[in-house]
Amino acid sequence: MRGNGISIRASSGSTSAGVVSQGNHVRLEDCPFCRCRLICIRSKQPDTYNELFYKCPNNVKGDPTTCGFIRSELQYEIYLRKLDAQRARWKRDCGEVEAAAAAAEESKDGEEIDGQSGEVKAQIEQMKLQIDSALGEIAKLQMQMGELKTSIMEALVVPVVCVCVGIVLVLTMLWK
Ligand SMILES: [Zn+2]
Repeated sequence: MRGNGISIRASSGSTSAGVVSQGNHVRLEDCPFCRCRLICIRSKQPDTYNELFYKCPNNVKGDPTTCGFIRSELQYEIYLRKLDAQRARWKRDCGEVEAAAAAAEESKDGEEIDGQSGEVKAQIEQMKLQIDSALGEIAKLQMQMGELKTSIMEALVVPVVCVCVGIVLVLTMLWK
């Protein structure tokens, strides 16, 4: 009973396939003036009968105050090629912008390296503190050394002075 339904479904669909593929093989862009989607029409004029035209929906034939965008199939294909070339150029320019952005990104990585160097800086600060404390130790040692020196000097000076005084005393006694 259902066999008939299936056979009907399989045979349908091939009727308008040719028309659909003919109408869809060129993509519809937006009107460069109005920014609305262009429409594809089939001419009914005697001299261009059955030819495809791509036009702005605002374009009214014979009315110069309406949008003037209308192209024959050939003209429209040329227009699309120009558009694609322009877009490729924009894309390339965008690529350059992206390259610049990537360069900026790289400098951002540099900032990250700065962050790392920040860590290094912290380590250096820590080392400086250690050095400061070491210097403090050295200063302490120097002071101790200085004290030692003065004590040594004192230890040396006192007998030397004593000896000198003794010599002077002896000499004065001899002179008299
Ligand atoms: Zn338009």
